[in-house]
Amino acid sequence: MLNRILSEADCAECKLCCGFYESEIWEVPVIDDGLAALISDEYEFDFINGNRVFKINYDEKGLCVCPALSKNGCKLGMSKPFDCKLWPFRAMKLGDSVVITISPLCKKVNGESLSKLVQFVNSDLTEKIKARVQKYPEQIKEYVKDNVILRFL
Ligand code: SF4
Repeated sequence: MLNRILSEADCAECKLCCGFYESEIWEVPVIDDGLAALISDEYEFDFINGNRVFKINYDEKGLCVCPALSKNGCKLGMSKPFDCKLWPFRAMKLGDSVVITISPLCKKVNGESLSKLVQFVNSDLTEKIKARVQKYPEQIKEYVKDNVILRFL
């Protein structure tokens, strides 16, 4: 979904978005029913705010590494959760509105100009995100400060 501005090779090299400290656990990707049916033989799940996520296990450094992560990148490939296909972009609830944001953590995408990011969101992401928000409104996370708002839906 992001390959016009972020290559799979860049993602596979970085993997930053596939590990979560406790303070970041709100970021874990939501596993929808369709994906859960595909992978439930292989993975265990937890629930956060009513949404299914991979089982949360912290290592000795307090990091929860996604169980789908391998040394070559995400084992789920094109079936990865929508949250992961979209990251570092995200739909978030802000009051009565839904906004499209970008996480400051992805250095590669944040290296693009703001105007290019807004143009990309408008042309490549907005309709897909709108459809997702309509289908799974309960999966939209609350706005968290430091995420830069690129547009209102
Ligand atoms: S599902 Fe894949 S892309 Fe998403 S956090 Fe896990 S390893 Fe990373």
